[in-house]
Amino acid sequence: MNELVANLGVSYGDVLLELSYLLAAVFFVVGLKFQSHPLTARKGNLWAAAGMFLAMLTTLFLHKDADGNGIALTNGIIIVFSIAVAGVLGAVIARRVKMTAMPELVSFFNATGGGASALVALIEFSNPNNSSTLVTLLGLVIGSVAFSGSLIAYGKLDGKVGDIFAKWTTYLNLFLLGIVITIIVFILAGNISYDSQKLLVYGLLVISLIYGVMFVMPIGGADMPVVISLLNSFTGIAAAMGGFIYHNQAMILGGILVGAAGTILTILMCNAMNRSLFNVIIGAFGGGGAAATHEQGTIKEISLSDASILLSYSQKVVIIPGYGLAVAQAQHICHELDTLLEEKGVEVKYAIHPVAGRMPGHMNVLLAEADVPYEKLIEMDDINPSLPNTDVVVVIGANDVVNPAAHDDPSSPIYGMPIINAHEAKNIIVMKRGMGKGYAGIENFLFFNDKTRMLFGHAKESLQKLVNEIKTL
Ligand code: NDP
Repeated sequence: MNELVANLGVSYGDVLLELSYLLAAVFFVVGLKFQSHPLTARKGNLWAAAGMFLAMLTTLFLHKDADGNGIALTNGIIIVFSIAVAGVLGAVIARRVKMTAMPELVSFFNATGGGASALVALIEFSNPNNSSTLVTLLGLVIGSVAFSGSLIAYGKLDGKVGDIFAKWTTYLNLFLLGIVITIIVFILAGNISYDSQKLLVYGLLVISLIYGVMFVMPIGGADMPVVISLLNSFTGIAAAMGGFIYHNQAMILGGILVGAAGTILTILMCNAMNRSLFNVIIGAFGGGGAAATHEQGTIKEISLSDASILLSYSQKVVIIPGYGLAVAQAQHICHELDTLLEEKGVEVKYAIHPVAGRMPGHMNVLLAEADVPYEKLIEMDDINPSLPNTDVVVVIGANDVVNPAAHDDPSSPIYGMPIINAHEAKNIIVMKRGMGKGYAGIENFLFFNDKTRMLFGHAKESLQKLVNEIKTL
């Protein structure tokens, strides 16, 4: 063994370091596998975090530079101090954040990841030992776009940043992309002085930051989930570029896994929203806050007793949960309602839209938290064909994901987005507080449908009253 290690020209420390990276990669993959199901997702997070902790620890103690020197003590202290401060901050923020504000947190984390990768690339461009110029420039561009784009996404989700909808933004984005490519080609051609190259690199940074802003700015309406997962994949790819610069396997692997997972999610979201990835990249989709111009009908309300009778004497009921159910934290009482109805012989299922709520899989996570059996959660494409034979759909705090304008109003910003066809059911009960709009900010003519009756009120309170009423029947 000693001989083998000596012949390879490496030390035991190097071997141990690479082995720890391999182990970390296994932890990441197992973590991802667990994360693919709501019941094991927490465990998945812990596995992935353990892998990352292992990689950081071994890098700190076993990494050696080209001259065989380990990390200097002062640098080590700075690194440990930074990890401790960031770790505590991250834990506090993640503990305090509400479930409904998760996309904002994800966007914020994406921004920090992208920003860190861009800084690595910026610093390493001037390192004479760095021979990967193309990778460094790509890391700089992708990291900067992820940074500024994620900050804008954060502001939009938080309601602090508005949308810019104009055709010129598409042309501007294409123009900026053109400049980015031209600068990269110029630097790679290498026939300009080092000082000019550095100037161009700073130019590249500024243009990429502007591109990130302009790329997210026109995206609005119901399309934000797609852009968040795309920016998430950018962050992963930028981190992988950093790994290539440092020849660090753990960084490459971790980055590629995040990049690949984010890309797959983006493609799935694009399919779910009926959007093309090309349009996402040039920032030309979504938006257009114009309200649909339908003839507005009248709203009909339903009393608690009528709603409880209708539900109790139905054969098939489908619950359509949305963002309002999440904000109201009404998942537990909702599960109580479905159990109660099932005891009365009613078949109850949940219709899950891929972008219901404010993060991918939000409804799955929320209902799993309330112990709703996973088999009862039926994906949009699988439940839609059965809705015409459903006696009652109960829309709880959902709006955009059941808005028929997506089918029949070409002027609507959500036109083309697949929806849960609540309007096809025999009866529709909508539970919400008032006539407030959904995330896309547009009118929903489902509420004026002849078959629809509104049960106004805070979802949790209305559900509690409904459950009490059904118990008296
Ligand atoms: P929406 O945001 O379209 O609508 C939610 C509805 O809930 C509102 O109309 C509101 O009406 C009602 N509501 C709010 N609070 C309560 C409450 N306490 N009790 C009862 N009702 C309440 O939700 P959907 O789930 O239908 O759609 C999600 C939207 O968010 C989509 O447009 C999607 O694209 C977007 N999005 C999704 C992300 C994801 O990854 N899933 C990320 C970012 C955006 P009222 O005020 O009258 O009560």
